[in-house]
Amino acid sequence: MSLSKKLVVPPGGKTRIADFDPADPLAGVAGAPTTKDEAEAALSANVEVIADLQYRLYAENTRALLIVLQAMDAAGKDGVIRHCFSGVNPQGCKVTAFKQPSATELDHGYLWRIHHAVPPKGEIGIFNRSHYEDVIVVRVHELVPEKVWKARYDQINAFERLLADNGVVIRKFFLNVSNAEQKKRLLDRLADPKKNWKMSAADFAERRRWPEYMAAYEDAVARCSTDHAPWHVIPADRKWIRNWAVSQIVRETLESMDPKLPKIRLDPATIDTSG
Ligand code: ATP
Ligand code: MG
Repeated sequence: MSLSKKLVVPPGGKTRIADFDPADPLAGVAGAPTTKDEAEAALSANVEVIADLQYRLYAENTRALLIVLQAMDAAGKDGVIRHCFSGVNPQGCKVTAFKQPSATELDHGYLWRIHHAVPPKGEIGIFNRSHYEDVIVVRVHELVPEKVWKARYDQINAFERLLADNGVVIRKFFLNVSNAEQKKRLLDRLADPKKNWKMSAADFAERRRWPEYMAAYEDAVARCSTDHAPWHVIPADRKWIRNWAVSQIVRETLESMDPKLPKIRLDPATIDTSG
């Protein structure tokens, strides 16, 4: 079975997050690494291919790739960005982290800041959190009435359709960490002077709402996985599996886009190369 087939959320389906194992070793998936060393070698190979394809995408300058990352704290959004995109030219790639909206952002519709950050033609855009926060944290904390967030699934599908119809290829990843592994990582962070700056008391408070978050994620991925903007649920308890899986799907996506270098517009023979 192919990796993306195994991890994709079927469009229109009744998906349960609990059906995806955060510690899935991906046995039986074609090409899946079985050890950490194998995974690191496969990741490096993917990073190189992604870099080459990004160069072509940039030169072709007709389409864009948008990667959406969502996850509970400490599931590894930052790690995925660092590992999977380490080879790309920063000139053609932009990461946007979506935090709590500013007063100005709140004065606009929730998709205003999102649309502004969509990658232009030729580029890769990575969303570290996204418009999905507007049906996840906003729902869990009841920041808007239920009627308002419930209407957003259709709005998000229409928005992503608009982007796809205009040359933006979209792939969405939910990094699926288990409750126990998240606790371990948060406690490790707290104890590590190099990492504890990342912590806030809220991280533990949010954990207490785990079931509400999972229910919100479940609806988001089930209702907004489409052929043109599929969700993938990535097993995130082991970092090496997680990084390889995301890099592999990004690689396969770029390969299927098959960006082409433009034809040279002049005849090299006519150029005076003397001097
Ligand atoms: P890290 O903790 O790894 O540095 P992070 O993405 O968790 O990265 P934080 O600054 O800790 O960054 O948290 C950003 C917060 O902003 C999250 O709690 C997220 O839920 C919240 N947020 C993002 N978008 C919205 C939104 N539209 N409405 C309300 N809260 C939002
Ligand atoms: Mg955080």
